[in-house]
Amino acid sequence: MHPKVRINENFGRLATQYLFTEIEARAAAYTETHSDKKLLRLGIGDVTLPLPPTVVKAMAKAAREMGTPSGFRGYPPGNGYDFLRRAIAARYNDEGIAVDENEVFISDGAKSDIGDLCALFGDTPILAVTPAYPVYRDLALLSGRNIVYVAGTRENGFLPLPDACPETPHLILLCSPGNPTGTAYTEKGLRAWIRYAENSGSLILFDVAYRAFMPPTAVRSVYAVCDARHVAVEYGSFSKSAGFTGIRCGYAVIPSALRTADGHSVAALHMRRKAIRSNGVSYITQRGAEAALSEKGRRECENNLLYYRENAALLAAFFKEKNFFFTGGDVSPYLFVACPEGMDSRAFFDLLLNDGGIVTTPGIGFGEAGEGYVRFSAFAQRDDVLLAVERMKNLL
Ligand code: PLP
Repeated sequence: MHPKVRINENFGRLATQYLFTEIEARAAAYTETHSDKKLLRLGIGDVTLPLPPTVVKAMAKAAREMGTPSGFRGYPPGNGYDFLRRAIAARYNDEGIAVDENEVFISDGAKSDIGDLCALFGDTPILAVTPAYPVYRDLALLSGRNIVYVAGTRENGFLPLPDACPETPHLILLCSPGNPTGTAYTEKGLRAWIRYAENSGSLILFDVAYRAFMPPTAVRSVYAVCDARHVAVEYGSFSKSAGFTGIRCGYAVIPSALRTADGHSVAALHMRRKAIRSNGVSYITQRGAEAALSEKGRRECENNLLYYRENAALLAAFFKEKNFFFTGGDVSPYLFVACPEGMDSRAFFDLLLNDGGIVTTPGIGFGEAGEGYVRFSAFAQRDDVLLAVERMKNLL
């Protein structure tokens, strides 16, 4: 006997398996049959280096505090502790961007923020650049929304502009540097999107999960472009910048003056939604995130980022030498590499896995515009990257 409840029919719009779950299963099957050959994981974008010592120290101190009568804390404030909201606002301010600490909302990661932010706005359709992080598509589909794609191509450098987009309100999902393409918008490109949002009455949800990989001279926030505060929410993460994929901490920045067409404060709606959905992020986690933003913490995070950047540079040098077309690898931990002539992305993925023991991600998993490419992640052990390059020398 089963309960008389029915499935959310929007599940029918999704692929049966989440992309990275499927890849994990393929990798596990390979390991079972090739126990003698080391599996090289350049697939899922998960960090591999341990937490920076300053972060560990702060979290250990916070845990000890929680073990004392005066330092114990229960439920955290729904929007995050003031110390972390302040530290994030200060980092924006250091970069010359005006953000108030009351405009910062702490979350358990950017993935939660994407879903939470989309849930605030009726059934407004989504407009998303593709290929993109598959969660954008799945969230839109599961919530029953329509989704319009703007395709990145080799010709537009995987940085499409809104030239041919409908002049009606949309939630625009942008990510820069992008996953999987590793390409980043310049100020000019972002200005085009901001103008489009103004003219069409749309709202930009701007994902900066990979901003730490960009040099300070690049556009690392949508708010670095004037007027964006009227049309954009930004959200970021400590996952890739500070190694928090397992700890879980992110944030959204919602300008206090931002309103829906019917006059509701977007920040107030977000707070209301968060209060329903979650009981916040632990004190220990937030102290760790605060430490990652301290001067010493930033230096240590930067060392880890340098390691990943060097991994990316090794892969980039190899593909350059072999004359493969690729994007990314410079301001991002990802390289989006064109498949060899006559091969689609699943065939190239299979070749790399079956003959090279190298796990990548087929571009088709990021949307149809990703067909013909495979994503290599530089979040890997150096030895694995070097070995992957050696194996590919013989293979490609
Ligand atoms: N946004 C993008 C573009 C991502 O690639 C990822 C993770 O890979 C996330 C968000 C999720 O970040 P978090 O770990 O903070 O949930």
